Amino acid sequence: MTRRPKYIFVMGGVMSGIGKGITTASIGKLLQARGFKVNLVKIDPYLNVDAGTMNPTEHGEAFVLKSGLECDQDMGNYERFLGRDLLSDDYMTSGMVYREVIEKERQLAYRGNCVEAIPHIVDEILHRIQRSTKLHQSDVSVLEVGGTIGDYQNIMFIEAARILKLRHPEDVLFVFVSYLPIPPKIGEMKTKPTQNAIRLLNSYGIQPDIVLGRSEQPMDEKRRDKIAEFCNIRKDSVLSAPDVESIYDIPINFNRMKLDRLICRRLGLPDRRSNFNQWEKWVDLTHQAKEPLKIALVGKYFNSGDFVLSDVYISVIEAIKFSAYHLKRRPIIDWLSSQDFENKKQSLKKLNEYDAVIIPGGFGSRGVEGKIKAIKHVRQQGIPFLGICYGMQLAVVEFARNVLKLSAADSTEITPKSPDPVIDIILEQKEKLRQGRYGGTMRLGAYPTQIGRGTIAHQAYRADLIEERHRHRFEVNPDYIERLEAGGLVFSGQSPDGRLMEICELPRSVHPFFVGVQFHPEFQARPLEPHPLFTALLRAAIKKRH
Ligand code: GLN
Repeated sequence: MTRRPKYIFVMGGVMSGIGKGITTASIGKLLQARGFKVNLVKIDPYLNVDAGTMNPTEHGEAFVLKSGLECDQDMGNYERFLGRDLLSDDYMTSGMVYREVIEKERQLAYRGNCVEAIPHIVDEILHRIQRSTKLHQSDVSVLEVGGTIGDYQNIMFIEAARILKLRHPEDVLFVFVSYLPIPPKIGEMKTKPTQNAIRLLNSYGIQPDIVLGRSEQPMDEKRRDKIAEFCNIRKDSVLSAPDVESIYDIPINFNRMKLDRLICRRLGLPDRRSNFNQWEKWVDLTHQAKEPLKIALVGKYFNSGDFVLSDVYISVIEAIKFSAYHLKRRPIIDWLSSQDFENKKQSLKKLNEYDAVIIPGGFGSRGVEGKIKAIKHVRQQGIPFLGICYGMQLAVVEFARNVLKLSAADSTEITPKSPDPVIDIILEQKEKLRQGRYGGTMRLGAYPTQIGRGTIAHQAYRADLIEERHRHRFEVNPDYIERLEAGGLVFSGQSPDGRLMEICELPRSVHPFFVGVQFHPEFQARPLEPHPLFTALLRAAIKKRH
């Protein structure tokens, strides 16, 4: 680091869900393309210590870092945009911050002082922000403050941002992402909610430097003038960010409207040339891919309204897209509810319409029998299949039931007293659950897998040793491995000590592509580095199609 680090806070107004996360990731990408060292930090206002204990239909996917920290799905977007692993220090929740302060208080770290939200919570937040900056040796830290201006929950973080600006006036920039509604009956874009949100932000002592107006349509001059005048912002710093087809277009659009140049100027950073070629080439590829490839995702979280759905499996969906574009195909991804296969609302024949079927991770017993039925179908019909985590475990259950004829085989997650517990809880996990320790105690984060030569997995990875991220409590029961293998299931990936089965597959002579993985490959798929396993699955899918 040659100069003082710079900090960009991204905050949101009017309502949530308008793309603060993608804005943060895109600003990071833009600065990275200019050769700056960048780190991205997500700040979540909730009291959960991590995102692992939250219901995915409410919160979306829990993204797992290499370190094993379970965090907000925005962190996945950050990794995908930057093309880099993030650290635990790049994520914070109110729960983490408060827990740390309270624990310090218990250890007399405050030496008898009265411990208060201000300054102690704010100090802890600042400490964490600066620790992340230091660890990455960043030129610029881009920090997304979760929630919306006006929430009570994120006030401490906004206060921390204000203090940082007070201490380093030249080095802190506030980007305000706000929503400009176009009420259908009125038919014109309204700036008032944004004006009010900025006024509220002003009341906290913060004046935004740059306003990004999110809307269905571009913002016209008149409205830019209004926001500039009424909110005391330079007009060149009021920018329009209309909806786009793909989130990956956004850094390119921002670059076109010279947001990166504006940021550099406002922060006193050198106006370097940006090198965006690779990203642009990739985005072109996403627009060019025409020939469709149909993929079915079979899961249980399917009855809560479409937009939540795509959030629950966002990393899986993005991973499919990256590999599809890489193979010059346009992915069509359908969500099929596994419960519909149970109550016969949906015929299993539906699966024949797809070029590949994926069963992603999951928990609990709802919809499990439907997933097992779907697995049996794709196994027998030769439809390319990838089972992820729970999807792999259920593939083993299906194999035990229908090939080994252990008709009552099950995971003990579903049937604790199963006579044939082919999937069973990992020993250390049992103790944790007995003690009621649920949060952050699964087998989490990156672990190595040794891959057997001559297998489908080896052909995909082209490596003997790989590392993938995990999030589970159950595993293949070692007592059944011999029988499963004798029946024809191949455990092509194992933990280096041979104790845990990490990948299973059927030989190519039996099935074109039938692979289950105990880990979550989707967490490491990146736009410019599509994941080899997803690419291998889609290659098989293309073959099936022709
Ligand atoms: N419920 C299974 C387990 O805990 C699978 C978890 C998952 O799919 N992430 O092992």
